[in-house]
Amino acid sequence: MSLGVAILGSTGSIGRSTLAVLERHRDRFKVVALTAHSNAELLQSQANAWRPVYVGMVNGAAERGAVAGHGAGCLVEAATHPDVRIVVNGIVGAAGLEATLAALQAGKRVALANKETLVMAGELVAAAARAGGGEIVPVDSEHSAVLQCLAGKSVQDVTRLVLTASGGPFRTWEPGRIAQASVAEALQHPTWKMGRKITVDSATLVNKALEVIEAHFLFGLDFPQVDVVVHPQSVVHAFVELVDGSVLAQLGFPNMELPILYALTHPERVADSGPRRFDALAAGALTFEPVVPARFPAYALGRAAGVAGGTSPATFNAANETAVELFLTGAVRFGRIAEIIEGVLAGAEQHPATSLDAVLEADRSARRRAREVAC
Ligand code: NAD
Ligand code: MG
Repeated sequence: MSLGVAILGSTGSIGRSTLAVLERHRDRFKVVALTAHSNAELLQSQANAWRPVYVGMVNGAAERGAVAGHGAGCLVEAATHPDVRIVVNGIVGAAGLEATLAALQAGKRVALANKETLVMAGELVAAAARAGGGEIVPVDSEHSAVLQCLAGKSVQDVTRLVLTASGGPFRTWEPGRIAQASVAEALQHPTWKMGRKITVDSATLVNKALEVIEAHFLFGLDFPQVDVVVHPQSVVHAFVELVDGSVLAQLGFPNMELPILYALTHPERVADSGPRRFDALAAGALTFEPVVPARFPAYALGRAAGVAGGTSPATFNAANETAVELFLTGAVRFGRIAEIIEGVLAGAEQHPATSLDAVLEADRSARRRAREVAC
C-alpha cells in the first residue's frame, strides 16, 4: 500500500525536489495534498500532474476540481488530512509552525525542512509529538547526516556533533566588504541551489546558527556539544563523535534529494536512481576551516540566543526573517542584518517558550522591533 504524502510549500526548492524524488518512487508514495503561497501557475501544473485530493493556496484562489483550501488555514488542513501519513514541511519561515504542530498532534511523520519552526518552538514541537504520537524526521542535510550516522546508536553514545557549513559566498571576503555586499552577491551560493531566504542565511551564517539550535532540539544535546566547521566543498554533511573517540560522517555531493528520500523512508533504505553518485576522486581535496567571528557576527548571536533558551530563539529567528526581508527589498545593506538582530535581542524580554501564545508574541514583537531598529 502506498503512503500518503502532503507537501507544504510544493512550489519551492524543497517542494520541487520532493516531487522529483516521489516521481521515482510512485510505487511507495502517493501525493495526497499540495500547498503553496502564491505561485498559482506552478501549483496548478503540479496538481494536474499529481492529482492530489487536496490543493491549498495561501494567497489567492486554489485549483478548481480538487478540494481547494484558501488562506493560512489550508496548511493545517493539508497537514492533518486523514489520508496523509507523511507531511513534508518545505515552507520557509515562521509561517510553517502551526502546520508542524497540527501534523504531530495528529500522529503524522513530519519530514521537516522548515527549521525556523523548530528553532522558534522546539519545546512545543516536542510536546506536540509526545501528545499525538507524531515524529519529526529532519530533511536538513546536516541533521539527516547525523540521523544516518546515529542509526542503531543512542544519543548517550554521542559526545559531539560537528555540522559543516559551506561558508557561503563571503567565506574569504574582508568584513568591511561583506557589510556592503549587494543582493545579487548574497544570492550567489557556491554549492547549494536554494530559496532566497535560506541563501541569504547561508551568507550571514544565520543558517548555521539556526541549525545548531535545530540539532539541540532534535537530538537533545547541549550547545557545547554542537560544533560547526566551515567546509567549502559541502561534501561531508556532518561528523558524529562517539564516546570511544570514533568519528562517523555522512558524505555526498550537495543535493537535497537524498535527505528528502531518507526522511520519507527512515529507518529503511530504498534503492534510488537519483542524483549523481559520490565519487571521491571527483570530489578531490576536502578542506576544513574555523568560523571567523568577525566575518559572521550573526552566527554568534544565534548561538547565544539558543543558549539563553525560552523565547530567545523565536526572537532571533523573527528578527532575522524581518532583516532578511528588508535586505532583499533593498531597504537595508547586508551588514545591517546582524546589527538589526543584535538590536532586537538586546531589548527583548525573555519568557518561557512553553505556550504557543508566548512564542507568537515573541515573534510579533521581534518583527515590530526589527523594523524600528532598521530605521
Ligand atoms: P523556497 O523559497 O524555495 O520555497 C518556500 C515555499 O514555501 C514555497 O513553496 C512557498 O509557496 C511557501 N511559502 C512561503 N511563504 C509562505 C507562507 N507565508 N505560507 C505558506 N507557504 C509559504 O524555500 P526553500 O529553499 O525550499 O526552503 C524551504 C525551507 O526548507 C526553509 O525553512 C529552508 O531553511 C529549508 N531548507 C531548504 C533547503 C534547500 O536546499 N532549499 C535545504 C535545507 C533546508
Ligand atoms: Mg542545512
